[in-house]
Amino acid sequence: RDGFLRIGALVTETQLEESAAVAERYPILLDTARVIADPLVRNRATVCGNIAHGDPANDHPATMLALRARVVATGPDGERTIDIDDFFHGLFMTALGEDEILTEIQVPVPPAGSGGAYVKLERKVGDYAVAGVAVQLTLDGEGKVTQAGVGLTNLGFAPIRATAAEETLLGADFVPAGGLRGAIERVRDAITKAPGADEVIAAAAQAAADMTEPVEDRRGTVENKTNKASVHTSRAIRQALARAGAGG
Ligand SMILES: Cc1cc2nc3c(=O)[nH]c(=O)nc-3n(C[C@H](O)[C@H](O)[C@H](O)COP(=O)(O)OP(=O)(O)OC[C@H]3O[C@@H](n4cnc5c(N)ncnc54)[C@H](O)[C@@H]3O)c2cc1C
Repeated sequence: RDGFLRIGALVTETQLEESAAVAERYPILLDTARVIADPLVRNRATVCGNIAHGDPANDHPATMLALRARVVATGPDGERTIDIDDFFHGLFMTALGEDEILTEIQVPVPPAGSGGAYVKLERKVGDYAVAGVAVQLTLDGEGKVTQAGVGLTNLGFAPIRATAAEETLLGADFVPAGGLRGAIERVRDAITKAPGADEVIAAAAQAAADMTEPVEDRRGTVENKTNKASVHTSRAIRQALARAGAGG
């Protein structure tokens, strides 16, 4: 409605998983809901609760950062809308006031040529992430990235929007892998020494890893988690590109 997918306060993870509209238009949300805990938890847990809790280990915050969502806070003085970039203030700290609850998440409808993916590494099914990465991309008709969103899970004291990775991806050319145009572009890149898709993805993955501040715990060392951030950013970018209809 009005250019947004609206997720109300009572919507559970299971409802998100079972929504045909979400599967069709927001595969990144389906990726995310599917890897949260287990079906017993997902039957009860709400998407808004996942955001409102302010836990950097929760999976939806990174995805909502990548999707440039906004949230509606409702309190005694009425409603206010908060950009997701302004919502997470730190470990279990959010922009919600003591007398407010989160009543809606608003996710912009992605333009044509968009694709997104959420990739999570967990020690075992149902666990919180060792590292999770959400990537949402929009490509123009020529395969050039016009919008990029990258969010990171459990790699710092708050969910991280990896702006440096987004900047690396913006404007990059990801010509569809097959066909004559793809072949011509690859020859041109070889001659001009323009960075190819693999180099851009590697640079973006490194930029994301450089923005993390993981702590050592049972899930891994700082070095290991930083490495996982890079590897999973790369995988999420490739999956997002494939869903947007490009190569890479
Ligand atoms: C065993 C287990 C495993 C889990 N694994 C994962 C995982 O892998 N990934 C993941 O992302 N999450 C995981 N979770 C968290 C879970 O998915 C829910 O996000 C979380 O429990 C919130 O559920 P809830 O909506 O019932 O909110 P509650 O648990 O009832 O609330 C959590 C907190 O948020 C506040 N709150 C809830 N809703 C709102 C609202 N609308 N407005 C304002 N404040 C609100 C509550 O007051 C409370 O402080 C796991 C939970 C469990 C129990």
